[in-house]
Amino acid sequence: MYKAFLFFAFGLMSCLLAKAQTPTFDVQHYRFAIQLNDANDTIKGQAKVRIKFLKDVNSFQLDLVKQKGSKADSGGNASSEHVRNNKKTNNNGKGMLVSSVTEDDKAVPFIQEAEAITIKAGAANNSIHSYTIAYSGIPADGLIISTNKFGHRTFFGDNWPNRAHNWLPCADYPGDKAQVDFVVTAPDHYGVVSNGLKVEETVLPNHFKLTHWKETALLPTKVMVIGIADFAIDHPGDADGIPVYTYVFPENKDAGFKNYAVATEILPYYIKHVGPFAYKKLANVQSKTIFGGMENAGAIFYFENSTTTKGIEELMAHEIAHQWFGDAASEKNFGHVWLSEGFATYMTNLYLENKYGADTLKKRLVEDRETVFGFEKRRHTPIVDTAVKDNYMQLLNANSYQKGGWVLHMLRRKLGDQAFWNGIRNYYAKYNGGNAYTSGLQKIMEQAGGKDLKQFFQQWVYTPGHPDLGISWKYDATKGMVELMVTQKQDYLYEVPIEISIDKQLHTVSLKDRITTAQFKVAAKPTDVNADPNVNLLATFAVSEGN
Ligand SMILES: [Zn+2]
Repeated sequence: MYKAFLFFAFGLMSCLLAKAQTPTFDVQHYRFAIQLNDANDTIKGQAKVRIKFLKDVNSFQLDLVKQKGSKADSGGNASSEHVRNNKKTNNNGKGMLVSSVTEDDKAVPFIQEAEAITIKAGAANNSIHSYTIAYSGIPADGLIISTNKFGHRTFFGDNWPNRAHNWLPCADYPGDKAQVDFVVTAPDHYGVVSNGLKVEETVLPNHFKLTHWKETALLPTKVMVIGIADFAIDHPGDADGIPVYTYVFPENKDAGFKNYAVATEILPYYIKHVGPFAYKKLANVQSKTIFGGMENAGAIFYFENSTTTKGIEELMAHEIAHQWFGDAASEKNFGHVWLSEGFATYMTNLYLENKYGADTLKKRLVEDRETVFGFEKRRHTPIVDTAVKDNYMQLLNANSYQKGGWVLHMLRRKLGDQAFWNGIRNYYAKYNGGNAYTSGLQKIMEQAGGKDLKQFFQQWVYTPGHPDLGISWKYDATKGMVELMVTQKQDYLYEVPIEISIDKQLHTVSLKDRITTAQFKVAAKPTDVNADPNVNLLATFAVSEGN
């Protein structure tokens, strides 16, 4: 996701809470049949959910926002397994009303609560069951039904972080990944795009059309999506056999086809460096997402004016990187969201470095570093932020993005390019289709680099702040030496290398203690002493000549 356009009040996400206990079940497959119309915003859904149970149960819960004011509204507690107290979501008669739950055409009792549906079906550990949930209502969120800037009606899914259960009964957290089919019935003038491949398009009576998209890779709900609008479609090319498509509003066709075509340069870079693309096509879609870009798997959504924006290459590089990091290899929970956003940030920097040169990388790292320091003044928390339990939008911050990216940059410098990329490839290969904690990344990078990274991860990922370094230097004319004294002024002591250039000659000093000294032979009194000239350390520096 790209947060640049995100900063408006987001009242809907008041208080979401993930439980950190062993899940009761694992969803294997969703088949969402969704009926849309032009007369009103009510959607009719039929969700067939195939579940593998991980313990014996008498009942279980799927997340789904209930229609406010409905007869079945008990007005009671929200008590979903995955989310709760999303108070403001059920408003204005919006939300979903479940009419039936069945298994093999037999009715199954259920109770609908504010944020969940409790299905009263017993199941044994390791057994697999399929339940069909019939429901309807106006989505309070998650599926944005509106008009685009040309006044045409559009429907765009926008599920991040856990807004999917506003319109889809599901296990709405990133740790439960599943295959998904979307079977959309809509007026026949619309185009429909989704995850995976289109496997059926059938004309129905009364000017309706059925469109079926199928994704066989395992996805978290946050990147499951449908987009329904009048689209102009382009196919600017393929990368490694993966077709790249552009979906834009017909009025923006000329600019959009041109602007979005850069995706065909970005996709091969990641395939070459990280590993195979996890999906069967990549569509880049002009949309009504609330984000600047949203990395829906195989169908990335971009903000409405993205067809003409100049920053599209950077935005696309970010969202396309997410296809590997976030979508295919997902964080286990949102506390580790930097495994999505930090990766997308640094992969973008790497792509741009490769295309435009090392100075571009340096310039971006300097900007990112400033952003991190600015953020730290407002919120002094580590990257893995366990304090955020109720509003995941808060995690779209400089810690997850820029500091996460910086951690990967410093890891690259610590391990060297070859070991770094080996580690990145191994991480993707291991977690493609699954979920990782930060500890999983650490282990793989340790193996790739042959280095213990405990302290590295501890200081950069689990500790807030950064080194604040005072560097004073003294020239001793009789010895022909410069003596450096580096002081760590912050409380927590880091173990880091710092590069210091003395009249263009580069030296590396390893810091660990409060004060570190080092001597270097010089030809004459230095005229130029610089800290971190190559932008490799996330720190603040004050260089002075001592006496
Ligand atoms: Zn992102």
